[in-house]
Amino acid sequence: STMPALLASLSNAAKQGILFKSGVFMEKLNMVNVIAFDKTGTLTEGNPSVTAVKYVHPSIKEEILIPIIYTIEKNSTHPLAKAILNKLEPDFKDNEKEIISYEDIPGLGVKAEAAGIQWKIGSRELTGINDKRESKLIEDLMKHNEVTGQTVVYVTADDELAAYFLIGDTVRDETIDAIEALKQKQILTLMLTGDSKRGAEMIGRLAKVDEVGYSCMPEDKVNTVKRWKERQAVVAMIGDGVNDAPALAVADVGVAMGMGSDAAIETADIILVKNDLSKLLYAMRLSERLSNIVK
Ligand code: ADP
Ligand code: MG
Repeated sequence: STMPALLASLSNAAKQGILFKSGVFMEKLNMVNVIAFDKTGTLTEGNPSVTAVKYVHPSIKEEILIPIIYTIEKNSTHPLAKAILNKLEPDFKDNEKEIISYEDIPGLGVKAEAAGIQWKIGSRELTGINDKRESKLIEDLMKHNEVTGQTVVYVTADDELAAYFLIGDTVRDETIDAIEALKQKQILTLMLTGDSKRGAEMIGRLAKVDEVGYSCMPEDKVNTVKRWKERQAVVAMIGDGVNDAPALAVADVGVAMGMGSDAAIETADIILVKNDLSKLLYAMRLSERLSNIVK
């Protein structure tokens, strides 16, 4: 019987912080030939920090913007929200604003009402910002910081640009090695991110993934996984966010990073307790060895 071999592999994996929800996935993992990765928190440290902030509203002053942005982002669990809070903390003088309504929009950002104003904090797609003059400034700021991926987070007050943040995130050391090892196994690597083109391509280049999909809504991640499955690929998806959960569910093998959101962890087939991609390679080796024993 192969049962003892399977159990031994599962317990070996568990000791390494790799939790399989079922033994089926230990067998399936070895058949994977396409892997889709989320960007933020999966390929990157997910511990981003603000490299620049500009307050640009014609009438709402910085003193008003800071406590409002701070209070709104306190409701979010997104790594970018954490970066913004860290940046604003020293300037935040313990005067939280009353938030009338708050809405989390996975893949785009957040919406809230405070001080009689509708606020949006997030991507260009969410905020609808397409200001030529600001774009040039942002472009210059990004060039200045090209060693890291740069995400731009826009803040609008009643649809007028009020502030923007440039947020840098670095590719994890293990990411580079993991992607390289996967390429040697002839596995196609994709990055699927809600981030916009520029920041996404920077990280894609640094991580050396084969293909980059940007401005992805959760459904776009799902559709990409489905498209590869239709081409007879065996697809793994690996991510940490609420926005990744639907794609984890449709993938042949869904892998969640253990520091990720509850939604991702609940949906995944395999959990890497630490956010460490080298564990994925370890799991693949176990799976390969098991399939050799079974043969
Ligand atoms: P990824 O797919 O790389 O993990 P997400 O889909 O989580 O990225 O986020 C995509 C984009 O949505 C971010 O680049 C950012 O512009 C915006 N966003 C999401 N949540 C927030 C938030 N709480 N604050 C600011 N921006 C956010
Ligand atoms: Mg993520």
